Amino acid sequence: TLNGKVAVVTGSNSGIGLGIAQVLAERGAKVVINSFTDRPEDHQLAAQIATDTGSEVTYVAADMSSGDDCRALVEKAKARFGSVDILVNNAGIQHVERIEDFPPEKWDAIIAINLNSAFHTSAAALPMMRAAGWGRIVNIASAHGLTASPFKSAYVAAKHGVVGLSKVTALETAGEGITCNAICPGYVLTPLVEAQIPDQMKTHNMDRETVIREVMLARQPSRQFATTDQIGGTVAFLCSEDAAQITGTTISVDGGWTAL
Ligand code: NAD
Repeated sequence: TLNGKVAVVTGSNSGIGLGIAQVLAERGAKVVINSFTDRPEDHQLAAQIATDTGSEVTYVAADMSSGDDCRALVEKAKARFGSVDILVNNAGIQHVERIEDFPPEKWDAIIAINLNSAFHTSAAALPMMRAAGWGRIVNIASAHGLTASPFKSAYVAAKHGVVGLSKVTALETAGEGITCNAICPGYVLTPLVEAQIPDQMKTHNMDRETVIREVMLARQPSRQFATTDQIGGTVAFLCSEDAAQITGTTISVDGGWTAL
C-alpha cells in the first residue's frame, strides 16, 4: 500500500490525472490534486475523493504553464502534508495543425505545460525525495513520446522531451531510493475523447462501435481504449517496491500501438 506517502498529481481535475489521483488515494496515499482553475467544484472534487477513499485529499490551484506556479505547487503540498514522495506530471494540452500554420503561442504553451512543468516540479521535489531517501516521479508521456503523427509537432516534441527528461532524472537519482519513469499511453477513454465520438459518428456516418474501432483506434491494434483506472494502476505499480529497480524507462499502455 501507499499508506503515509504524499502524492502530487498535476492536471488532475479530469481525465487521466483524476483517475491516477483516485487510484493513489484508494491505495492509501495523501493526494494533492491540481489544475489552473480555483472553483468551488475543484475543492468539492477533492472532498469527494477523500470521502470515497478515506484518504486525505486536497486541491491546490497552480498554472502548469508557469515555472513559479509549478514550484509553488510542490512547496504547498509539503506545507500541507509534510513531504512530497510521489510526483506525477500529467498536465497536458494538444493542438493539431501543420507546422507552417502552427500558432507560435500554441507551440510555447504546449512546450511549457507538457514539458517544462515536469522540469520545474521535479526540481522542487527532488531535494525533498533525496532527504527522505525515497521518491517516485512518474511522467505521463504518450505513444507520441516514442512515435510521431503529422500535425502534432509541439505535442510530439514535448512528449519526446518528457521521455528524455525522465531518463536524465533517473540517472541523477540512481541508487538513492528514487525512481523516474515515463508512462506512454495510447488512446485513453477520457471525457475529452468521449466528447469527440458523436461528431465522428456524424462525420463518418458510422455507429459508435464502428467509429471507435475503424477511425479513432485505427493505430491501436487492440482496438480498445485504455482506461484511466489502468493508467492509475500502472502509476501505483511504479510506486511499489516491486518496481524499485525500474527507472529511466518507458512503459507503454497502448494496446500494441508502438509494436506496429
Ligand atoms: P484532459 O484534458 O482530460 O486532462 C488534462 C488535465 O490537465 C486537466 O485536468 C486540465 O485541467 C489540466 N491542465 C490543462 N492545462 C493546465 C495548466 N495550464 N495548468 C494545470 N493544469 C492544466 O486530458 P487527458 O486525456 O486526461 O490528458 C492527461 C495527460 O495524458 C496529458 O499529458 C496527455 O497528453 C496525456 N495523454 C492522453 C492520452 C489520451 O488518449 N487521452 C493519450 C496519451 C497521453
